Amino acid sequence: MSTTEPRVISHWIDGADSPSSSGRTAPVYNPATGAVQAQVALADQAEIDAAIESAQRGYQVWKTYSIAKRQTVIFAFRELLNARKRELAEIITAEHGKVVSDAMGEILRGQEVVELATGFPHLIKGAFSENASTGVDVYSLKQPLGVVGIISPFNFPAMVPMWFFPVAIAAGNAVVLKPSEKDPSAALWLAQLWKEAGLPDGVFTVLQGDKLAVDGLLHSPVVQSISFVGSTPIAQYIYETASKNGKRVQALGGAKNHMLVLPDADLDLVADQAVNAGYGAAGERCMAISVVLAVEPVADELIAKVSERIANLRIGNGAGVDGVEPDRGPLITDVHRDKVASYVDIAEADGAKIVVDGRGLKIDGHEDGFFFGPTLIDDIPITSRAYTEEIFGPVLSVVRVQTFQEGLDLINSGEFGNGTAIFTNDGGAARRFQSEVEVGMIGINVPIPVPVAYHSFGGWKASLFGDAKAYGVHGFDFFTREKAITSRWLDPATHGGINLGFPQNN
Ligand code: NAD
Repeated sequence: MSTTEPRVISHWIDGADSPSSSGRTAPVYNPATGAVQAQVALADQAEIDAAIESAQRGYQVWKTYSIAKRQTVIFAFRELLNARKRELAEIITAEHGKVVSDAMGEILRGQEVVELATGFPHLIKGAFSENASTGVDVYSLKQPLGVVGIISPFNFPAMVPMWFFPVAIAAGNAVVLKPSEKDPSAALWLAQLWKEAGLPDGVFTVLQGDKLAVDGLLHSPVVQSISFVGSTPIAQYIYETASKNGKRVQALGGAKNHMLVLPDADLDLVADQAVNAGYGAAGERCMAISVVLAVEPVADELIAKVSERIANLRIGNGAGVDGVEPDRGPLITDVHRDKVASYVDIAEADGAKIVVDGRGLKIDGHEDGFFFGPTLIDDIPITSRAYTEEIFGPVLSVVRVQTFQEGLDLINSGEFGNGTAIFTNDGGAARRFQSEVEVGMIGINVPIPVPVAYHSFGGWKASLFGDAKAYGVHGFDFFTREKAITSRWLDPATHGGINLGFPQNN
């Protein structure tokens, strides 16, 4: 009988693979086949402490590096990533299930933040006011926080960590990254790349784990800040716990993104974009479109066009079969697939019409994979949980509205405020939409408006807890703290003298 031990995916501590001795693991699946391909280590307290202590040592070294030396390392990381990103894409596909070209897409969007970070000297410059008071100069420094924690979700195992760590490291911090336990290997590949780029050991640490590891970061007095991305209930928990422990925190939560379609829109463009944004990556994107608000009389025609396009979608193993890549792959786990299915059941029970039903999809040769077909729902009641809650799967619901205002009010009445899009040729309507919609990221004839790296990413309402968005200027502000210095070098001709009053400028 074969007694082959399962492969165990380890931590990355002190600049090296660090096998776990906790005895705790979780399975890592290949979602396309349903097979368990490895176990990931789940840290215990000793490993959490070891990771944080190593990061603290790394920080002591990194903070002595000049801006020029730091920049050299970040440029080297960018070059290595650019040259070898296909390796990373294949790792993502093997554990997440998305098609390789989509994995490449997420890496490219992460790489944009690395490229932003190469220009960090400009973004962490302080300010100087000469002669603010007579003979007195006032200036401010932007210094790193120290050890910072990043906790990421399963759906973008490379891009979401890259929203934060290039900025954090460029600003002089040491990072402890706790990836999703569902696809933990991308983080290790990135850690190895940092090593090759010349980053000192301990500046980038990967701590594999579950709630215990997260709580370890939240409660450690050494960890100065937490950057979290995941579902709303956990984001809220992270925000409350980290704040209570005196940390800086940015916690990005879930989403329910609406696309508002006005009657003057180009319906072929809308149908293409609704399919791309609703079903790409199997709907497991925080910026996916989940609801189409069709301002009548366009709903029937739009539903027909979307249905036609769905019929041509090819779903299969994201790694491709015989060199041919499908349009999209499976969901992350069977548990998640069943949860998505349960929302379609709820919509049906609540009286919605299931126009295209993805439940029970089986793919030849991949019968145990976690597949779910594209699903199109019409006339979903806005009281249904399938309308109000995040589904995070390939399910697009249509709500028919009579006016622009009715659509806008529906968006604004929702719990979330991550992304939204309007499709129209009416500039005045688009302008009013951008001004009045209560959402953080808005597309005008653009379905997934993820901002470029030099703007910042973040939603409103239950989609972001905390004041700072990810990357851009917000990112550099988040990962630095300011010191204001008031200095006087005495001129031999001047004297201070005794004055017990509050300092005044003159
Ligand atoms: P999740 O909330 O289940 O997990 C996110 C992270 O939190 C993981 O690292 C996980 O290990 C950890 N975690 C899970 N349960 C925890 C608990 N009880 N206590 C402490 N830590 C815990 O999210 P997910 O399923 O991995 O990712 C999907 C979610 O992420 C969706 O809701 C999606 O909208 C959201 N998301 C949001 C954005 C955004 O920018 N707003 C981006 C990507 C994903």
